[in-house]
Amino acid sequence: MDSNDPRSLTLIGAGLAGCLLAILLSQRGWKVTIYERRGDPRIKGYESGRSINLALAERGRHALRVAGVEEAVMRQAVMMRGRMVHALDGSTMLQRYGRDDSEVIWSVHRADLNMTLLQAAERAGASIHFHRRLHTVDFDAGYARLIDDRDDQPHDIRFQVLIGADGAGSALRAEMVRRAGIGERTEFLDHSYKELTIPPAPDGGFMIEPHALHIWPRGRYMCIALPNDERTFTVTLFLPNHAAPGSGDPCFASVRSGAEVRALFQRDFPDALPLIPDLERDWENHPPGLLGTLYLDTWHMGGRAVVLGDAAHAMVPFHGQGMNCAFEDCVALAEAMDRHAPLEDAFAAFEAERKPNAAAIQAMALENYIEMRDRVDDPDFLLQRELEQALQARHPTRFVPHYTMVTFMRVPYALAHARSQLQRRILVEATAGRSDLSGIDWDALARRIHAELPELEGAR
Ligand SMILES: Cc1cc2nc3c(=O)[nH]c(=O)nc-3n(C[C@H](O)[C@H](O)[C@H](O)COP(=O)(O)OP(=O)(O)OC[C@H]3O[C@@H](n4cnc5c(N)ncnc54)[C@H](O)[C@@H]3O)c2cc1C
Repeated sequence: MDSNDPRSLTLIGAGLAGCLLAILLSQRGWKVTIYERRGDPRIKGYESGRSINLALAERGRHALRVAGVEEAVMRQAVMMRGRMVHALDGSTMLQRYGRDDSEVIWSVHRADLNMTLLQAAERAGASIHFHRRLHTVDFDAGYARLIDDRDDQPHDIRFQVLIGADGAGSALRAEMVRRAGIGERTEFLDHSYKELTIPPAPDGGFMIEPHALHIWPRGRYMCIALPNDERTFTVTLFLPNHAAPGSGDPCFASVRSGAEVRALFQRDFPDALPLIPDLERDWENHPPGLLGTLYLDTWHMGGRAVVLGDAAHAMVPFHGQGMNCAFEDCVALAEAMDRHAPLEDAFAAFEAERKPNAAAIQAMALENYIEMRDRVDDPDFLLQRELEQALQARHPTRFVPHYTMVTFMRVPYALAHARSQLQRRILVEATAGRSDLSGIDWDALARRIHAELPELEGAR
């Protein structure tokens, strides 16, 4: 039972956002109780099986910094300087993400990160109850029913306020939809993914360059690999669920057996094949993961309940921002709760600030799939990238590359999206019909940039 203390809050989900929010709110004097569906990963090991590692960028790091846990997380992180693009002929090309090693992203292990955050949440004063899956909520009476999946036993609790950090399949969101019709819509992508593993080399080192995010772009599908600090790589293969008629593309409907996936790798990813010794076993044991974008009209029900992170705005993973955005949500919610009372006003202010930004990163994540699988090895794209870098060097406070705004800065996503669209138009128009940058009218471009792109705060 939760107390009647008006400063008590009940959080659902001790995943990434739930734990970080618990730290931030406990530090502010809230009495936080978390209920988590799974067992304690510190005792029984982590039961995720999905997206084993994640790219951590500045937005996420900033939130960890605010909570005082950045250093502990960064101890286990592996730096990724850029995309290592693997062509079909086995040649590779490193495309740096930023200007130098101050502009990089970091691969972090989901299980290690979650355990670091759980530990810190408990140290900050939150109490965490495992094996408690939210089942149903009576919002009027302030009762929730939780189930222990080990014995199917119900456990009823009383609550003042429920905060849902219970991920893309949020049970709290489902209950809010049932009670108040908060306008839920999920658009599934017609592509899914499978995770495979590259083990350490026989000498205990990494099999391929560790400080990069590896991509094998193949038009309508692709493979990526992120390093882990135990010298392995997690490989994710993204394929359509069904191939376009007549395309001959591989798809989950046609590549089913271990032998079929081996044939696919032999044809399309020959340099990756020898790196994945358990290819067939990984393939047959892991079901494909679904990818979708979740939209909600409203994220809160008065001051009684609110959702954040994937529970409010799950997105496709192609910008590596889902967790980063969820962490930004945590800081925004904690700060809105500092600024506004009653909680209804705080939740409304949080939603007003974050919803347009979540929508923008959801859209950018969808756009980035096309870029990653189809454009990173395209000559037009490479020329536009060259011009983008040249314009950044000439106008560093105005022409800030899309990836820089999203990944290395904390520019609101919606602003980053709007500026990126404008910049993309400039890049496409200025490079149309060209094969190199000779003949570019730099003065005309400077005039256009000064007219259309105001200086961006924080750009250097
Ligand atoms: C393939 C893939 C790759 C990704 N790569 C990246 C990346 O590189 N960078 C990045 O920033 N993001 C990435 N993401 C997105 C990222 O995983 C999510 O955005 C992030 O995990 C969201 O955090 P969350 O706390 O909202 O949800 P989750 O991490 O899903 O946590 C939800 C928690 O709630 C618990 N729970 C669920 N239901 C209940 C219930 N009924 N009762 C109680 N507890 C419950 C769960 O057990 C879990 O602990 C990726 C996602 C995928 C699928």
